[in-house]
Amino acid sequence: MESEPLNLENDAMEFDMGSAEEDNLNASGEDLGLQCSSSDLEPYEGMEFESEQAARIFYNSYARRVGFGTRVSAYRRSRRDNSISTRQLVCSKEGFNPRPDNGAQHKPKRQRIVSRVGCKAHLTVKKQTSGKWAITKFIKDHNHELVPPDQVHLIRSHRHVSGPARSLIDTLQAAGLGATGVMSVLIKQSGGVNNVGFTKVDCQNYMNQSRQRTLGSGAHYIFEYLKQKQAEDPDFFYAVQDGSSGNIFWADSTSRKNYSYFGDTVTFDTTYRTHRYRVPFAPFIGVNHHCQPVLFGCALLLNESESSFIWLFENWLAAMSGCHPISITSDHDRIIRSAILDVFPGTRHRFCKSNIFREAQERLSHSLQSFPTFEAEFHKCVNLTETIAEFELCWGSLLGRYNLIDDEWLQSMYDARQHWVPVYLRDTFFGDTSIAKTSDSTNSFFDGYIDASTNIHILMSQYEKATASRHEKEVKAEYDTINIAPILKTPSPMEKQAANIYTREIFLMFQQELMETLAYPATVINDAGSDVIYQVVKFGEDHKVHYVQYNVVEKKASCSCQLFDFSGILCRHILAVFRVKNVLRLLSHNVLKRWTRKAKSDVVLDEDKLGLPSSHNDSFTDRFEKLSLETTNYVKEGVDSKSVYLVAMDALCEASKKVAAAMCGTPAQPLSQDMNKEKEFNLNGNQTDCDDPSLLSQDEKIKELTTAMVYATETCEAYRAKLLSILREMEEQRLRISLKVLIYVEEYLYRQQPVFCKSLCKE
Ligand SMILES: [Zn+2]
Ligand SMILES: [Zn+2]
Repeated sequence: MESEPLNLENDAMEFDMGSAEEDNLNASGEDLGLQCSSSDLEPYEGMEFESEQAARIFYNSYARRVGFGTRVSAYRRSRRDNSISTRQLVCSKEGFNPRPDNGAQHKPKRQRIVSRVGCKAHLTVKKQTSGKWAITKFIKDHNHELVPPDQVHLIRSHRHVSGPARSLIDTLQAAGLGATGVMSVLIKQSGGVNNVGFTKVDCQNYMNQSRQRTLGSGAHYIFEYLKQKQAEDPDFFYAVQDGSSGNIFWADSTSRKNYSYFGDTVTFDTTYRTHRYRVPFAPFIGVNHHCQPVLFGCALLLNESESSFIWLFENWLAAMSGCHPISITSDHDRIIRSAILDVFPGTRHRFCKSNIFREAQERLSHSLQSFPTFEAEFHKCVNLTETIAEFELCWGSLLGRYNLIDDEWLQSMYDARQHWVPVYLRDTFFGDTSIAKTSDSTNSFFDGYIDASTNIHILMSQYEKATASRHEKEVKAEYDTINIAPILKTPSPMEKQAANIYTREIFLMFQQELMETLAYPATVINDAGSDVIYQVVKFGEDHKVHYVQYNVVEKKASCSCQLFDFSGILCRHILAVFRVKNVLRLLSHNVLKRWTRKAKSDVVLDEDKLGLPSSHNDSFTDRFEKLSLETTNYVKEGVDSKSVYLVAMDALCEASKKVAAAMCGTPAQPLSQDMNKEKEFNLNGNQTDCDDPSLLSQDEKIKELTTAMVYATETCEAYRAKLLSILREMEEQRLRISLKVLIYVEEYLYRQQPVFCKSLCKE
């Protein structure tokens, strides 16, 4: 007979309602051949069930009704076939929580809540010779209070993500909703939080589980492809995370090379991992010098845990020479964000704005339906505000007007605003070439090649087709840049220079900014030392002010619109200041090599490469400007007090002697032969010129010549400034006239159109 003691099962055997085997069960247990169909029936000894599972479900549904949780506990095996013959189902408060030091080898990761109070209520079922299971013992009374009906859904054994709920969660997850959003839909649909049947944590667990995928029979195909590619190309890189359940990453030699040129900004595109697509394909995308998307490697995401993303990013980084990008754009995803923070601590991370707008469609569907104007205003608030203050004001007023101040999702998006609202991200290079661009996602590299019908078997051929097509487009852009000279619209030497430096695509953007300067006068508002602040306002738009700080010595400028920081192209405001300051050429710090025709070469961009005759530091004007500025500062400080004045005078004397000496030592200066002899004498005779009276006449001569030269320089400079201003005026005049001509021609053509059409019709 079965006489051995009952075996205890461990905690993990509690009703794990998330597992797949539960799919075909429902709460009343009817499908399991439960004989007692009445739902309010109380267990009694002798009650029979078709299976042990049916008994479990019956006891659990009874427990839900009464207000307690259940757990599967001890069992006894049959001696005949070793199958389980007796099972004890207990109240979840049965027994006591194990004490932390109670022989446990490992430390528990989390502090567990004391949930067990030694309750004796239970049910024992035993397998009959007929094959059915019967209740042999039922203890009804509990030693604790029962849970009221409105809280019973929180008990673990009553939480269950049912089949219909699962498919709804799948759909919502595919649409980009997180656990919070999914739960709010489920609560609404079931008419209350206690009708959902599970908690947000269960929902999150289910969602994480459903993200685990396998490639099935396609895995073999992928591995073969990767091996073959590596055999063909020694620089082909691939990595597989533990076997068939981990992620896969690969990058070819072109991707790796491209990263060395354009690796400043990266988009990790996870659009294809949603359930709309069959293959969890995730490419790393950059932007090349023609503003085209360029590939930095691809991944297959079979596991979306944080550790798997960390694995992926680390392998990607290893393939990309270990060089961290300046910025990364990804989907709005908590797990991806923490993996990025882990692997790229110094990189600026931004959430893809269009991904957030898609999320808004789901989260705010009610408001979007009730208020047709809301969406446009929401986009405007995010995309078109130019300062942080303006955005904050706009956001507050938007939420107020549409009564959304309490909306949880909007609140969370506001808290994360520094990671997706453009106005907060303008100080970092993201490779976007326009601030007012409404979408920040790079038009995907694989658009038109991978869609909802792409499966794992055709993925690689589509991948190859896409890379070949992108390569062809780059070749075409390269050809156009070299062979089609852009039409210059001004006589500006800077425009001509830019046309030779930049690729065609970037030049057109630069040209647009340059043309715009005509409508942007720049006025000095603060001229202190070497940094001058200009106010730049568009004619007729006095409320939109931009401030440009211009350093006279270094000729460096920065603008409050931050276009240069964000996109690497000089803005119209800085260019307007350059016009005022007679800066007629681009210097190396104004040009980002990655946007130039030389982006893919190893040359270092300097003034020579920018088509300048010599380094700007050496030019006569620069020397003159710097010296004048220093002298002015010197005088300002020197007149403050008598003692400072005396020191300043002394130092000046000293300085003029040094300058004179330096002039003797400069062979390029048109000094007399005597001077050169003098230099030799000094070097050989170890004498200083101040001690030797014979040198006094030479000294005076030097002074005389110096004064003459300074005078000549000044005159020269005055002429130069005058010439430049005339040139500028001429240029403006010409532009004004050409603009007028354009308008006139347009109007003329417009008026001629009907006539033209008529004549066509007659024919
Ligand atoms: Zn109990
Ligand atoms: Zn600007």
